[in-house]
Amino acid sequence: MKNYSFRKRLFFGTLMLLMVALVPPFYFYDSTLREDIMLDAKDRAIKVLDTVDHVLREYGGDTDMAGTDARLTRLGESMGVRISYIADGVVLADSSVPFEEVPALESHGARPEVRKAMQGTTGVEVRYSTTVNKELIYAARPMRGVPGLPEGVLRIAVPVSIVKERLSRLESGMVWVLSLTVLASALIGFLSTRPLLRSIDALARTAQSIGQGHYSRRIREYPGKEFKPLADAINGMAHNIEQHLSMLVDQKGRLEAVFNGMNEGVMVLDCGGRIHSCNKALAAIFPGIENKVGITPIEATMKPELQKMVSHLLEHSDNDATMRTQMEFSGGRFFEVTLVPFTDPAGARRMVVVFYDISERERLEKVRRDFVANVSHELKTPLTSIKGFAETLIETPPGRPEQTAMFLKTILKNANHMTKMVNSLLVLARCQHKGEETDLAPVDAHELVRQSLRDVMHAANAKGITLANTLPEGDISVLGDRDGLMEVFRNLLDNAVKYSPKGTTVSVSMRPAQDRVAFCVRDEGPGIPEKAKDRIFERFYRIEQGGEPAAKDGSAGLGLAICRRIVKSHGGDIWVESPLDPTTGTGAAFFVTLQAVDKPDKSDKSGNDTVEQEANGNAGSDASTDPAA
Ligand code: ADP
Repeated sequence: MKNYSFRKRLFFGTLMLLMVALVPPFYFYDSTLREDIMLDAKDRAIKVLDTVDHVLREYGGDTDMAGTDARLTRLGESMGVRISYIADGVVLADSSVPFEEVPALESHGARPEVRKAMQGTTGVEVRYSTTVNKELIYAARPMRGVPGLPEGVLRIAVPVSIVKERLSRLESGMVWVLSLTVLASALIGFLSTRPLLRSIDALARTAQSIGQGHYSRRIREYPGKEFKPLADAINGMAHNIEQHLSMLVDQKGRLEAVFNGMNEGVMVLDCGGRIHSCNKALAAIFPGIENKVGITPIEATMKPELQKMVSHLLEHSDNDATMRTQMEFSGGRFFEVTLVPFTDPAGARRMVVVFYDISERERLEKVRRDFVANVSHELKTPLTSIKGFAETLIETPPGRPEQTAMFLKTILKNANHMTKMVNSLLVLARCQHKGEETDLAPVDAHELVRQSLRDVMHAANAKGITLANTLPEGDISVLGDRDGLMEVFRNLLDNAVKYSPKGTTVSVSMRPAQDRVAFCVRDEGPGIPEKAKDRIFERFYRIEQGGEPAAKDGSAGLGLAICRRIVKSHGGDIWVESPLDPTTGTGAAFFVTLQAVDKPDKSDKSGNDTVEQEANGNAGSDASTDPAA
């Protein structure tokens, strides 16, 4: 069905209705009227015939035919009709034709009305007259016994045009009425449909704008109550769409937040195995990937094995199993890569690839493996020695007691070394465990240094090493855990004494550095090689002294690791500067920075060469003397 406009339909409908309502009555009325008028006209023609008949009978014919013709002409002119007198078909007189021309008229005997009259009745006919070129109503009647007139037929002719004019006036009036009615109804239709069409237009525009995404719009006005269900349906639809949309937007926002907030890198692949979208974490792993949507995983990651797995999962649609693998990427980063295939609502097979960073886990695992290997290795040597000497003592006891004593001494030395190592490991473990939980409190630095010096005094005395405390006078307080800081100073001084040659000096000094204080333990030992400066703070790292591993002298390589752990937990720093004497390449200075409580006295004496022996609290006294003295 063609989509005619509402207005056109209404117009043509009304037109049809009008046609049906007006045309048949008009046609009926017109034809009835036409008949009536014709009958009336024929009656009139007969009446005129009667009148002429009466006049002729009353006055009779004239003396001759010319006189009769003149009389009929006058009568015809006054009555507005044509009067003819015919005898035996020959016209004898005619009001419309001059008398001289009457004989030239053709015979009228064959005329139907004349024939009827000749038969004795009144004949009435409607016919076109070639004589006057008009349609006429003819009425004829026999005339007998009229004085002065031969027996014949009296015929009158009345023009039909008068009748026709009346009819056509009537018809044109009817056509006008019909046309005006159609026009008026079209105008009324146009005007009455205007508000309706405007309202429909507004409804359609609102519906259209809802369709274009303005789901908050509603239809409030409609053309009529017939449109209410339609308006309600559209409003309901818009409301539902609005709700679903806001739900979708909310869900999308949440998903995006989760997607981008994830620590794991995620890439979503389309059915062709190309990257469709990725999250921020993935962009951090593969910089710039967010701008390269549409590339393949191999182009993004440079990992053919990943591409192989992706292709395999996409090709084998029956396999819905998740695939997982571990991969190492540039920069030594390890990732656990999980491939999860899925089928989207359109039936296309797609995939999510998740990159979980396991670098830290791998590192810790490696540290743990190294640590276990190191501890085992460190314990193995003294244990083997203890086992060997013990077995020898049991199976083949040496004959001489000095030899037995030497064996037992070796066993004791190795046992001591193991004890020291185990203790160090325990301290280290404790430090790691305590971590940031360390309770920091003001600690008197003077007291700390004095106590540490006292602890190493015995070893220093044994080697003739001078211990120098050059801390400035006055109150020096640092923020820290006393036991931990004690461990640091004892380790540093212990190393300094241990690695310094006989007769040298080991000194402790301090200098302020903004809100911190920097302590320095200086010695004149062999120094630290450049490449080992950072590594000596690692666990189990030892410098080979003259080709001999430091383990020989009981070094386990844990002291400085413990120091670093403690200092870091105090928010401080530890480092070494060496050599101190460029000519000999000897000497090492270990620095420790700690947070100061009070501003220390700026009269730092560590810069000068003055050596003060404060280990026992007596300035200037020999450090190698017994602290108890
Ligand atoms: P340990 O507790 O076994 O002494 P450390 O961690 O304290 O181990 O020291 C690690 C290594 O650093 C030692 O093996 C030693 O070679 C070197 N070292 C430490 N302190 C000094 C120093 N004052 N002078 C020279 N070498 C040192």
